[in-house]
Amino acid sequence: MEKRTIVTLPGDGIGKEVLNEAIRVLEAAGFIANYIEGDIGWEFWCNQGNPLPQRTLDLIAEHKIVLFGAITSKPKDEAFKGLIPELKEKGLVYSSPIVGLRQHFGLDICTRPCRSYIGNPLNFVRRSSDNDIDEPKIDTVIFRQNTEGLYGGVEWSNPPEQVYNALMTHPKFIKNFGDTPVEEISVSTRIFTRKATEKILRAAFDYAKKYEYKSVTLCEKPNVIRETSGMMYKMAKEIQKADYPDIKLQNTNIDAQMMLLTKNPENYDVIVAGNMFGDIVSDAFAGLIGGLGFACSAQYNYERGIAVFEPTHGSAPDIAGQQKANPIAMIESACMMLNFIDENSIAKKISTAVAEVVAEGRIRTIDMMKMSDSHDAIEKSVASTRQMTDAIINKL
Ligand code: NAD
Repeated sequence: MEKRTIVTLPGDGIGKEVLNEAIRVLEAAGFIANYIEGDIGWEFWCNQGNPLPQRTLDLIAEHKIVLFGAITSKPKDEAFKGLIPELKEKGLVYSSPIVGLRQHFGLDICTRPCRSYIGNPLNFVRRSSDNDIDEPKIDTVIFRQNTEGLYGGVEWSNPPEQVYNALMTHPKFIKNFGDTPVEEISVSTRIFTRKATEKILRAAFDYAKKYEYKSVTLCEKPNVIRETSGMMYKMAKEIQKADYPDIKLQNTNIDAQMMLLTKNPENYDVIVAGNMFGDIVSDAFAGLIGGLGFACSAQYNYERGIAVFEPTHGSAPDIAGQQKANPIAMIESACMMLNFIDENSIAKKISTAVAEVVAEGRIRTIDMMKMSDSHDAIEKSVASTRQMTDAIINKL
């Protein structure tokens, strides 16, 4: 059988470390592929002026399946300082390469499952009515619209005249901001389209139907953000009524959801949200299952068959290069990749091995111990990134 080609984008910081570990697990589990490494991230911005080079986009367009580690992203001014001197005069403006990648390939469906592992010392617990410690099982899958909304990149500081004039046609703008000098105004737009909104809603309902979840919760803020959240809520109700009558539609506001998730997280099956609220709610749910070291993620353009699998976390400069990263989020993201390409039995084998290692509790990375400030953690026999991977491989 012809070997598959997987594009690997290690990126920055712990992205490089955890991606290597995921490939070791894939190979040990019997998934044999050609891995082609692509360039992305901070180094390519600083030295070449582009954190997402065209050659990387070409690689992805050709091979379609991507394993991505993490990148470092910095605000505009800090990013400018990182450029080598000869690039400083070129008028380059930094933007996040992972956001750019999602938009370039229309990876508009982002799926982030948050499922608790038995035996994880970081699992969310609460006190039950009879004063016992209660550990509710979390099994929530977040669907995040991945290309629009507040991360759409349509924004200005000191907006140009045409934009300012257009804003001045809105009665609320005149009332609330009409007296503010234009050079003191920054605007970030929140644009939702019906097409992308329908796609993420249907993806969430389809998933709930396929995997027999009882409810889909829309997590937005339609009572205040009336046009974008409001449109999404209206469409969710119409779609549910017409095509998914057996699945309950719940509606929560993002602020209330942050509180509800530590009261009754078991009430949430599939959650669907726009780009930024989806980002927030998925990190928040990740906190209930042990944090970012356990949070996997996939982003798809189903029409083109392009998919990028990545841990939810970033490059974690605070622990990079120290063998302290938990590789499980990356390894589970690789399992999501295997499921996408119909290698379900290998995915199952790996996920089972991960679950066994966590349940056994003999090997724990530093994020699973209460030692986050300890610089000599590895010497104190907390498991390193590599030791955690070895333990998973031994269970295969
Ligand atoms: P982060 O996710 O990198 O780290 C947040 C905290 O979680 C840190 O304390 C870190 O040590 C810890 N952590 C993260 N992953 C872990 C793992 N696998 N094991 C153990 N602990 C882990 O977020 P941040 O600190 O806000 O951002 C750091 C950089 O990453 C920034 O430049 C940011 O822009 C970027 N970022 C990139 C992505 C991405 O590549 N998709 C996502 C988020 C942040």
